[in-house]
Amino acid sequence: MLPYQDPAQPTLNRVGDLMSRMSLDEKIGQLVQVDRAALTAPEDIATYRLGSVLSGGGSAPADNSPNGWAEMYDGYQRAAQNTPLGIPIIYGVDAVHGHNTVRGATIFPHNIGLGATRDPALVQRIGRATAEEVAGTGPKWTFAPCLCVARNDRWGRTYESYGELPEIPASMTSIVGGLQGASLAEPSSILATAKHYVGDGGTTGGDDQGNTQLSEADLRAIHLPPFQAAVAQGVGSVMISFSSWNGQKLHGHRQLITDLLKGELHFSGFVVTDWAGIDQIDGARGFTGNEIATAINAGVDMVMVPTDYRQFLTLLRAEVQAGRISAERIDDANRRILAKKFELGLFERRFTDRALTSTVGSQPHRELARDAVRRSQVLLKNANNALPLAKTGGKIFVAGKSADDIGNQSGGWTISWQGASGNTTPGTTILQGIRNAVGSGATVTYNRDGAGIDRSYRAAIAVVGETPYAEGRGDRTGSMGLDNADLRTLSRLRATGVPVIVVLVSGRPLDIATQLGGWAALVAAWLPGTEGQGVADVLFGDYNPTGKLPVTWMANASQQPINVGDGKPALFPYGFGLSYPGGPTPSPSPSVSPPSPPRPTPSASPARRPTPTPTRSPSAAPTPSPTASAVAASCTVRYAVTSEWPTGFVTDIRITAGSAAIDGWTLRFTFPGGQTVTNAWNATVTQSGDQVSATNLDWNAIIAAGESTSFGF
Ligand code: BGC
Repeated sequence: MLPYQDPAQPTLNRVGDLMSRMSLDEKIGQLVQVDRAALTAPEDIATYRLGSVLSGGGSAPADNSPNGWAEMYDGYQRAAQNTPLGIPIIYGVDAVHGHNTVRGATIFPHNIGLGATRDPALVQRIGRATAEEVAGTGPKWTFAPCLCVARNDRWGRTYESYGELPEIPASMTSIVGGLQGASLAEPSSILATAKHYVGDGGTTGGDDQGNTQLSEADLRAIHLPPFQAAVAQGVGSVMISFSSWNGQKLHGHRQLITDLLKGELHFSGFVVTDWAGIDQIDGARGFTGNEIATAINAGVDMVMVPTDYRQFLTLLRAEVQAGRISAERIDDANRRILAKKFELGLFERRFTDRALTSTVGSQPHRELARDAVRRSQVLLKNANNALPLAKTGGKIFVAGKSADDIGNQSGGWTISWQGASGNTTPGTTILQGIRNAVGSGATVTYNRDGAGIDRSYRAAIAVVGETPYAEGRGDRTGSMGLDNADLRTLSRLRATGVPVIVVLVSGRPLDIATQLGGWAALVAAWLPGTEGQGVADVLFGDYNPTGKLPVTWMANASQQPINVGDGKPALFPYGFGLSYPGGPTPSPSPSVSPPSPPRPTPSASPARRPTPTPTRSPSAAPTPSPTASAVAASCTVRYAVTSEWPTGFVTDIRITAGSAAIDGWTLRFTFPGGQTVTNAWNATVTQSGDQVSATNLDWNAIIAAGESTSFGF
């Protein structure tokens, strides 16, 4: 047995011994992370000595069941074993609210709801449960927790934030202890990632991947504390933010990565980029050798390439051979990455621990999620003690597009990257929770749109709010209000005079001030995940609400950004949350019951970002949609829905005036003259006279037609 193969040796010795045997190609391979959908063949892991594979968002195997995952994962590890040194890969997933890509997994509330619980111990338990479910399907690494401090609710990642003040995300780094366990060597431990370093939630206008304009003192005071806390918790990896700080992209920011994070904070794990994050350093499409060198010299240890790994390796090797990246920097990155692989026990136990597979979606985990849901509910209004509802007598009417919709209540990052409405994974909808709560004690009638309600009902419960999205700019209309379908449903209910109890399913505060007067009660349910029973627990008084707002609730959308202490008159202040008479239910949460067999797992979902190299022939293009729109001051086009490309995504095409139209696969901006376009993503934008076109939209920048395309203004 060679020293690096000997688990009795200290990690440092094993790393040193292994590195003394590695060629340059083996070393640079460790820096490369590839999305599974971009891997031409599992054998490429061995051929190119790849160090890491990920499943971005909905990049799941065709058999998206726990067993399907384990098979896939073990196949990749077998491929990695088939090299002279047999270095295992480290596989990363976005398990950001449970192991959310896997059908049948337990989906916990998104971070904003967990922030409302103010309960770090609960969040640590959620980390533990998530780690078991992830490890039970193979991977040993999650890109969580997101420690953003969301400072503008227009940002489409507000729900990934535990709160608008650094204190809540900092306290919730308890999840790191849950994910990584007492020791990384435990079979159920997985590596955590503090992301996105740093200032991702502070961008101007809430632009995703935008610019955070702040003094160093403010950056340190507002956005750094959660990362300091995570480092203190021993977090194993840190992901760099797509955003810029005072105009400079974080992915090339040596001062923040090497000097501050690794130097001043003594972070000893490894730094990974975000998805194609280094491509943005010079603002142009794709990566260059120069960008690779800039990022790695700034302190990046692993690059989420994530697709064109052959080209990336060629350029990286050339940069090292030309001396623009030092051998010492490559060695340092290797030491950091390999140390975590050894600590995780990957050299000894590289394959899935099947003893953990039955924890995926298990009853104890669902009980824990239900408890988290009820603790995350924030009671914002309760006129005449309309809540809690009695479980017996009379008739209850339930309406709203999110009353009976697992997809809506789970939000983005659920099964697919963007998430989707509908029955996407097993769980309990809020409607089912209500029915379970009353049993045979009362009649529950459900109509999604509110049709059929009359005065004979004692209460109407409307479950309304946002439909799933991920990243980009969450608000599609700019108004941040309820959509027309919700408003119609609510006015039907209100017209009867029956008290209307509103359960708001949303990733952030919505602009509801003008509606609020007509509602008897309002519960912010956030994005509770699969266990809708927890919402019913609060509605019927089985749990007396304790949740407190983790963000300031605006009086209207024009107040954004609105934060604690900035003097704007909020609708509900940060920290607000009511209880029922008699006081809140005390902690701790109840203990959990024994395990049950895993849930059935229905068939696969659409991929997160469609095929990496699209073969879109003109004939395959759908009929152009007549959704030309007038464009106001600044626009971010974020989300196109079609049957062919269910998760099309475009971001950061900003124009100052003019109009936009879709022509086949081309998004065309027509300008009155002279305006500029900033394109921070992948499209090629050309300007000719007063006409600007965004063409060459690739597979993660798709403008498509079919249904009405959503332009966020
Ligand atoms: C997101 C990250 C995520 C990564 C991998 C990126 O688009 O910003 O939060 O971890 O994709 O899926």
